[in-house]
Amino acid sequence: MKKITVIGAGISGLATAYYFKKAFPNAEIKIFEANKTCGGKISTVKKDGFIFEEGPRGIRPSGKGRHFLQFAREIGLWEKLVPSNKEAKIRYIFLEGKLEKLPSNPIEAITSKTTSGTLKAILQDLTTSQKTSIKDETIYDFIERRLGSEIANKLIDPVISGVYAGNIKKLSANETIYFLTEPEKNFGGIIKGLIKQPKTKPEISENFGEIEKSALVTFEGGMQTLIDRLSKLLEDNLVLGSKLTKIQKNGEKFVLDFGESVYEADFVFSTLPSYELAKIVDKNEPVFLKLTELLGKIIYAPISVTSLGYENKVNKFKGFGYLVPHREKQKILGALWNDQIFNGFAPKGKSSFSVMLGGACDENFSNFSEKDFIEMAENDLQKHLSISENPGIKMTKIWVLGIPQYNVGHKEIVGEIQNLFENSNFVVSGNFVGGVSVIDCVRNAKNLVGFFEQKNKERF
Ligand SMILES: Cc1cc2nc3c(=O)[nH]c(=O)nc-3n(C[C@H](O)[C@H](O)[C@H](O)COP(=O)(O)OP(=O)(O)OC[C@H]3O[C@@H](n4cnc5c(N)ncnc54)[C@H](O)[C@@H]3O)c2cc1C
Repeated sequence: MKKITVIGAGISGLATAYYFKKAFPNAEIKIFEANKTCGGKISTVKKDGFIFEEGPRGIRPSGKGRHFLQFAREIGLWEKLVPSNKEAKIRYIFLEGKLEKLPSNPIEAITSKTTSGTLKAILQDLTTSQKTSIKDETIYDFIERRLGSEIANKLIDPVISGVYAGNIKKLSANETIYFLTEPEKNFGGIIKGLIKQPKTKPEISENFGEIEKSALVTFEGGMQTLIDRLSKLLEDNLVLGSKLTKIQKNGEKFVLDFGESVYEADFVFSTLPSYELAKIVDKNEPVFLKLTELLGKIIYAPISVTSLGYENKVNKFKGFGYLVPHREKQKILGALWNDQIFNGFAPKGKSSFSVMLGGACDENFSNFSEKDFIEMAENDLQKHLSISENPGIKMTKIWVLGIPQYNVGHKEIVGEIQNLFENSNFVVSGNFVGGVSVIDCVRNAKNLVGFFEQKNKERF
């Protein structure tokens, strides 16, 4: 019986193992996870009737999100999906000392501070010729060239913070905002492209109805429900509390060393963060030595998520939450209003916030303690939302190496890694390879197994 091993039981590892089990029911499939529990960055904390997320809080169900909806249905979680409330479409940006609502219709767009300068930006885009010599550039350089620095600093910077906790002066435009760079490449400008480009066929044609229209979806009980379900489906395959300390090659096979035990595998699928994988591959093996060098170039942004629960309704704003551009020089990157996004995430009459701090631009992150993050979160919320009550619940999760950064040059590094292991039984995967979102992790797992199945069906 062929032995397939998946290393790491975050969503990438769990989804990979799930699809393997489906494709190769006769293979011996093992998932080795260092922790006693699964989930990796997915971590839901329940306290006094509140549900807080320390990692991802939801999935955008439209577009690529259909992959996730399909997955949720397949693993029997369709009934547990919770769409966000209508108000979750309302979002704010913190500008010049106060919250400004992002417009939801053209009239609001004319008067909103968040979109001031848009006409100038459109004119710039329509009159700026395409730069065909540029292969890739930073988000800032692309936006500044096409729409001007005002739009880059005021709108794009906070939105990118909200997804990557990233630095727009380093992140690759092609890898992150391809929906804006592609129109320029194909039609000479963003606006021209958005008008002229034909509607692309969705990757999944199945329609999931109303739920696709919501801003975000989660599960009853939060994202942990997804992990609990996958853990149950894979209970015979999971080996928890097994920290891999070394991977060595042995002919065509791989010897996985766990300190007190070893396991020999035919196929290894790593879903570890790059810095973890770099530590454990056998450096005497030239291909692993080269891999270590490449992995060392991958950068992660730090992020802390502070959860605050209040006894009363303390927030006079309605919506999803707000983001803060770096130029506003506040401590926080943004705050989410948990009690308004999903029903059932806070007891009736109480308020719940998740406040993000840190990010790739924060050079002082490592100097701060949990207490510091809580203090900064509380103070900024007090100031921005005029809250006078003290929160009854306050806790912080610190992710020192939180989110991989798809900076300019990242694609080439990943390409080199993939070339190193072309036609090999060792595969490097995870959220630094095919996208950071939970949707990307699931979609990549499915594609990876599909590709492997095509090549190896007869070997099982
Ligand atoms: C604060 C935060 C908020 C986010 N918000 C969202 C969001 O709202 N929506 C969204 O789509 N995405 C979001 N993301 C991104 C998304 O959560 C991650 O990209 C995704 O969960 C990563 O999954 P993964 O399995 O690739 O990696 P991980 O979750 O990092 O899993 C890797 C696993 O490997 C294990 N491991 C490490 N070393 C070893 C070893 N030596 N041996 C065995 N096991 C080992 C770890 O314990 C871990 O379980 C967020 C991320 C963060 C940090």
